[in-house]
Amino acid sequence: MSAYKSIALDGPSGAGKSTLAKLLAEALGFVYVDTGAIYRTVGLCAFRKGVAPTDPERVAELLPELHLEMRYEADGLQHMYLDGEDVTQEIRRHEISRYASLVSAIPAVRAFLLDRQRELARHNNVIMDGRDIGTVVLPHADIKIFLTATAEDRARRRYEELTQRGQKLDFAVVLRDIRERDEQDSRRAAAPLRRAEDAVLVDTTGNSLEESFQLLLQTVKERLSV
Ligand code: C5P
Repeated sequence: MSAYKSIALDGPSGAGKSTLAKLLAEALGFVYVDTGAIYRTVGLCAFRKGVAPTDPERVAELLPELHLEMRYEADGLQHMYLDGEDVTQEIRRHEISRYASLVSAIPAVRAFLLDRQRELARHNNVIMDGRDIGTVVLPHADIKIFLTATAEDRARRRYEELTQRGQKLDFAVVLRDIRERDEQDSRRAAAPLRRAEDAVLVDTTGNSLEESFQLLLQTVKERLSV
């Protein structure tokens, strides 16, 4: 049994996982691990090298050479580095979401990243967000939460986030892409997005950020006795 506590937070794109996980981590003094950012960095690597994210063999060939690092910096955020360059902002680009989703369906990519994620939970109290944290990465997590909301609600949040970052897209395109990623993430054979049987289901549709945060905090406090 690990001396450290772990919270697994899974759910589809745009359910508010990363924003809420960051707030929870601050409130609890835990390390926030954004596993989507790691898959995004692999996706960015394929994108930059002109490798089709749908080609498992070519993507797998990138892995031994992949120089990927994760650092927690003074701003308290998890920064991602690819070949020594800080790509924290770039991996958030809309087109990289699709690359991340496609490369993450490749079993060799998942196997390559599995131990790195587990290692973090071995040495820290963590709140880890992703798609398969409660089912595959940390099956013995102290708390498992499955966070969801309707596709429209999630697309609206993603749209606002992209607009704030200066990326102008039609709402209809964002909604279509959210649905496509839901489909890809849930249908894939390797570690599909699914609620662990022992995960608490939290639906944030129509909630403000503060309401969702309070709901999660209460769930965590009840179960972790912190
Ligand atoms: O969470 P985020 O949207 O940043 O993740 C990007 C993509 O990475 C997701 O669409 C999903 O396909 C993949 N992912 C995954 N497993 C995780 C986290 C993310 O497959 N644990």
